[in-house]
Parts: sequence; C-alpha cells; structure tokens
Amino acid sequence: MSGLTLPPPPLLPDQAPVGRAALFLDFDGTLVEIAARPDAVQVPPGLPGLLTRLQAGLGGALAVVSGRPMQDLDHFLPVPLAKAGDHGATIRVQPHLAAEAPPLPVPPEAWRLQAMALAQAHPGVLVEEKTHGFAVHYRLAPEAGALAHALLAALVLDSPFQLLAARMAWEVRPRGPSKASAVRRLMQAPAFAGRVPVFIGDDVTDEEGMDAARALGGLGWQLQDAFGTPAALRGWLAQALAAPQSPASPAP
Ligand SMILES: [Mg+2]
Repeated sequence: MSGLTLPPPPLLPDQAPVGRAALFLDFDGTLVEIAARPDAVQVPPGLPGLLTRLQAGLGGALAVVSGRPMQDLDHFLPVPLAKAGDHGATIRVQPHLAAEAPPLPVPPEAWRLQAMALAQAHPGVLVEEKTHGFAVHYRLAPEAGALAHALLAALVLDSPFQLLAARMAWEVRPRGPSKASAVRRLMQAPAFAGRVPVFIGDDVTDEEGMDAARALGGLGWQLQDAFGTPAALRGWLAQALAAPQSPASPAP
C-alpha cells in the first residue's frame, strides 16, 4: 500500500503521476475553507480519517504544515499525523513522538498591547495569539489593513522578528523557522527520506515550502492553480487513495 501514486491534479492534467511521494499539506485555505474568524473553520467530518488513510498509503510520509500553533492543529485534526505548527517552529516528526520546538524569542508584550489597541479602535480587527508571536486579522475590517501593516512593520524593524503577509492578516513571528525548514526537517525522517516531496498550499508562506520541496527534487502546487478549491483538493486526495495503483511504483 505504500506504493500509492498521486494522480495529476484536476487543473494540471499534463502533470505526470507522482510515485513514492511525501505529501506536505497546508491547513487553512488548503485542506479547509477559510472562515471569517480563525476559530470558526469547519473541518469536514471525513477529513481526519482521509488523512490517516493517506498517511498509511504513503508509508507515513504525510505532514500537515501550518502557521497555526500545534494545539490548534491537534484540535482540528485529532488524529496521529506528522504535523508542523507555527510556520515550522514546532514539528512533530512522527505521529506519536513529542513535538520538537527549538527555543525561540517571543515578541515584547508592548507589541501585543499596541496590536490590541488597534483592534479596539477598529472593530472587526482580531489579534490571534501564536506561540511565538501574534497575527492581526483584518478580514472583517479591510480598511484597517494598511494601518496594521504600518504599525507592525515599524515594530519589527531591526528586531529578531519579521512581518509576514497572510490572507487578510499580518503576522509577527521570529526570523528563522519557516515552512521550508519544516519540509527539510521532515524529509530527514525515516518515513519521508528518499521520497518525492509534494507541497500543496494557498498562501504566501507556502511558497517557501514549495521552494524547499522543489529544491529537494519535488513539486510545489498552489491550491488555486492545481485544484481551485479546498473541496477539489479533498476530492483529489480521496481519488488518490481509491485509484488502482500502478505496478511501476514499487513498495520500498
Ligand atoms: Mg493557508
């Protein structure tokens, strides 16, 4: 069963099937539809089971790689999977191992307070706590996006933190870990090593993961370009699991 082959994505029909793949999947906007608030995402009931079966089909080489804290990922996907949270700052290399989390700085409390003050002045702006930083969401108050950017960009200047653009959000996080470093770390794990990394994501930070996968001889697919929607991706994952497997992809 570990010879599972990935069929071409629906919007990339010329892509050759990928045998011996290691799958890296972003969560928000990729596996699940974006919600108005980060805590309001809806996880389709079949998704955790689908990922578990895919993981088995890929010999363990499947990881969810997200900007969310690990506890969020465990809450929304309460199944034993390899996961990377906080943009690679926290990594659980194997489903039953403890998460690896190298020590990282946290931003000064004054920064959070300034972000909260901005949120109070602009109803709809939300401050999301992250393990090593925070995100300011302006999906419900788009007019405050530029203001939030100006404030946060000034704060992180000449600091060990960086400002990251997400979809309708700005995130302050430490420099260093990234979805790219998460891919590189996971590809060293026994279940992943020697496989073809395939990274699927929808956002700016996913580009780093895609670049890392390509640098390791693999592929990076933008959700919009390859699948269109999270629902289409989930359909493709189910299809990959159900497809008759080609004898050209030998088990390890
Ligand atoms: Mg995303």
